[in-house]
Amino acid sequence: MGKDKAIHLSFWERQTYFEDVDLLIIGAGMVGLNAALAVRSLKPRWKILVIDRGEFLPYGASTRNAGFACFGSISELLDDLRTSGEDEVFALVQRRWEGLKKLRALLSDEVLEYEGLGGYEVFTGNDQDLFEACAGHLEDFNKKMEPITGIRQTYAVVSEKKNEFGFRGVEQLILNRGEGQLHTGKMMQALLACTRERAVEVLNGIEVKGWHSGQGSVLLETSNGFSFRAQKVLVTTNAFARQLLPELNVVPGRAQVLITAPVKNLKIRGSFHYDKGYYYFRNVGDRVLFGGGRNLDFEGEKTWEFGLTDRIQTRLEELLREIILPDEAYTIEQRWSGIMGLGDRKSAIIRKAEDRIYCAVRMGGMGVAIGSLVGEDAARMLVED
Ligand SMILES: Cc1cc2nc3c(=O)[nH]c(=O)nc-3n(C[C@H](O)[C@H](O)[C@H](O)COP(=O)(O)OP(=O)(O)OC[C@H]3O[C@@H](n4cnc5c(N)ncnc54)[C@H](O)[C@@H]3O)c2cc1C
Repeated sequence: MGKDKAIHLSFWERQTYFEDVDLLIIGAGMVGLNAALAVRSLKPRWKILVIDRGEFLPYGASTRNAGFACFGSISELLDDLRTSGEDEVFALVQRRWEGLKKLRALLSDEVLEYEGLGGYEVFTGNDQDLFEACAGHLEDFNKKMEPITGIRQTYAVVSEKKNEFGFRGVEQLILNRGEGQLHTGKMMQALLACTRERAVEVLNGIEVKGWHSGQGSVLLETSNGFSFRAQKVLVTTNAFARQLLPELNVVPGRAQVLITAPVKNLKIRGSFHYDKGYYYFRNVGDRVLFGGGRNLDFEGEKTWEFGLTDRIQTRLEELLREIILPDEAYTIEQRWSGIMGLGDRKSAIIRKAEDRIYCAVRMGGMGVAIGSLVGEDAARMLVED
């Protein structure tokens, strides 16, 4: 990223793509694309351009995540309640739930390959205290969840299922009946197609370096060696937000994952959270996708650099072998990482940052769930301003 190349635009290129831009969105992840769609329905005649510095695909988290359609495991909610009030915590849960409904309505379960297999929180013998704390809140949380999910008992202890999945050392399981999983690649492919279908141009390989406001517009500088003007700018660069808006409270959090080759007679079906959500795994057909371990090196993983570390990958391999697939023969087929936008609060930052510049960032590792609503809120804000 960030290569300075001197591209001289042709008259045709400038006129077609870069002149009279009403709205320029920086970042073609889930939030940028959802915002573009929402603005298009409010402003059918606006010229909307989405750009991303990724050379062929967006290069952040949206094409690299685990595809959990989740909205809150019990231990995560308990953790959140330590630092935030009950109203705030359940309002965020509601937003995730509504966001998932919106995403599924827009793209369809068939296209998303959405499967409502449920999400499980996994507790080993060492996690007995945590399990008891979670089980102790189950009834209360079910009451709070029912008006949100419409499910009578969103959470249930289903520890008898541990043998069904073939785990070793797992003692307790709590099911979240409302959780599902989807195909991240198909989601982004469909979102991009939908955005382009609605006359929004999406261009890759363009990095915004900065801007100057004035003369009733914003002049954007790119690392490609050309600049152009837009009436309004929306920054949806999530983890990378501080590269353009240094005052924002957004910290990068790298997340590393691996995926196995197909496993014969795989017993695991659904999505699973372990160790307060620091680890997560799911089946992708007959494969297991497994990620997490950021808690092993919080400081080292606060980075804008994509990459893998031995320390985290080794721990993922250990847990896979010892707990998740103890009796199966398998091979690891692929590993990758993505960068999340985190901060001192879990809520997204959706606000006007400067004259004509708006931002919608900090998805807190839950962009699949909230990305569509955040995009919509940002669209309304900048259109009404
Ligand atoms: C490994 C992993 C697993 C995850 N699993 C889940 C999950 O199961 N469920 C869930 O809900 N969420 C999950 N997440 C989080 C989710 O993927 C993100 O919250 C979401 O994708 C954020 O979307 P976004 O559009 O805000 O940002 P991004 O998708 O990161 O998009 C930001 C874009 O901005 C571009 N950009 C940055 N700076 C510039 C610049 N100066 N000029 C031009 N372009 C720029 C980047 O190239 C990038 O494409 C996971 C994340 C990771 C990394």
